[in-house]
Amino acid sequence: MTDTLKFDAIVIGAGAGGCHAAARLAAAGQHTLLVDDHDYLGGRAGTEIIDGHRVNIGAIALEPGGAFEDTFELCGAKLDIREPSPAAVFFIDRKVVDVRKGGLGFLLNGLTKQASRVLDQFAKARTGNMPDGRESTEDWLQRYTKNETVHAVFRNLCAAIFAMNSNEIPARAFLTYFTQKGAFKRFGFHPEGTMGAWTALAGAVERLGGEVWLSSPAEKIEVSGGRARAVLIRRNGGDVVRVEARTIIFNGGPKALVGLVGEDALGADYVRQTAEILKPSANIVFNFASREDLMPGVPGIMTFGKTKHGRLCNMANLTATCPEIAPEGWHQYVGYAVPHPAIGDFDSDAEVALSHEDLRDQFPGFDDKVKMLSIRVMRDDWPAQRTGAGYDMDVATPVAGLWCVGDAVKDYGNGGTQACAVSARIAVDAALDAQAAAAQAG
Ligand SMILES: Cc1cc2nc3c(=O)[nH]c(=O)nc-3n(C[C@H](O)[C@H](O)[C@H](O)COP(=O)(O)OP(=O)(O)OC[C@H]3O[C@@H](n4cnc5c(N)ncnc54)[C@H](O)[C@@H]3O)c2cc1C
Repeated sequence: MTDTLKFDAIVIGAGAGGCHAAARLAAAGQHTLLVDDHDYLGGRAGTEIIDGHRVNIGAIALEPGGAFEDTFELCGAKLDIREPSPAAVFFIDRKVVDVRKGGLGFLLNGLTKQASRVLDQFAKARTGNMPDGRESTEDWLQRYTKNETVHAVFRNLCAAIFAMNSNEIPARAFLTYFTQKGAFKRFGFHPEGTMGAWTALAGAVERLGGEVWLSSPAEKIEVSGGRARAVLIRRNGGDVVRVEARTIIFNGGPKALVGLVGEDALGADYVRQTAEILKPSANIVFNFASREDLMPGVPGIMTFGKTKHGRLCNMANLTATCPEIAPEGWHQYVGYAVPHPAIGDFDSDAEVALSHEDLRDQFPGFDDKVKMLSIRVMRDDWPAQRTGAGYDMDVATPVAGLWCVGDAVKDYGNGGTQACAVSARIAVDAALDAQAAAAQAG
């Protein structure tokens, strides 16, 4: 151990939630340290370069508005995203269905005579009349229609947005998202890859007087008298530095927090919650490029209807709005599949093979047309979501001065990077209130 340093706030983890938290703290005048164990920003929403292509590890679609855009405004960072139009379409029986005018209602009316029964339930949900949190989306939908294509569309919406199958996500969480959250009605892609958003926020942290240390794992959070006091950080693979702060925010999820803080300090109930509540969900990501335009007239994201094996759920056209992410002459796409089950154990190789076949079936001649850039299974400790919607823990921890942010502590029924931004807003507001209360108490 070489040094003890002092900051007002330390954020451990520069994923979406960590970057939002650090930027908000810095914007509030806190001398802030943001650390991550990787050599890049963004965690599961980072970007890597493969064969000259900017390839996103996780998130691609960033929602303007809400807590997400608010962070950028607060810290003076530029949110440089390009919104495709139409943003979202459906691909049913190999035909594009543009729902700009009539939304989901237009699609359902074209698929089943029972559309109004389903749409009535959305109307009820808008007034707060929801199924209880135990019924799955599939069971809920089954009460109103048996139409297989409608079930496939709902399954693929669940898979695309939450990385869960429709028999895994509670209908209450699904309807909460579609009737009360952003629901990706508007989204954009970042021209530098999703990483560009985190570079902007981390840049703001530094501009506002804070520091960002990459390749620097936090090894221990010191707790005494029920309060978090300091973090031991192995800075850039070298010596361990002890950093004291009044506020400590962790972005690696409550389960990993137990390893950093210890079971005694967090208490048996918190440790039990990490085992019983959290349900990490998985997805499979195909990044590929083609000389041929595989999604003509579709510059955003398309959600599939029935597919051969029911794995593939949606696919995005990235170069239509952001041509600079690929070398000249290439169209770049990402296709997502969700395994069966998405929560719990599955055979990765078998699920990748079935998902790949779904892609080949939707796009005849697929193998001849594409250059595969990467196939990645997101699961276990590096999942699609650290917990599925409806199965979240709290941002607060039992230790004073210590909060979690990220996609294991989402607000109910939320998902993705917008939910991570909301968790950061809640954690930072609580941290600033706690500091103010402590200052007043003397
Ligand atoms: C394939 C895929 C597609 C997706 N698509 C979208 C999308 O289009 N739109 C959307 O909004 N969301 C999407 N998501 C979800 C979104 O990417 C995630 O919800 C979000 O990135 C999770 O961020 P997080 O804040 O939980 O942090 P994480 O990404 O988990 O990052 C946490 C960081 O903390 C670091 N860390 C952990 N422990 C330590 C430690 N002890 N010391 C230092 N560092 C530590 C980790 O290494 C990591 O870098 C997608 C996800 C996947 C996988």
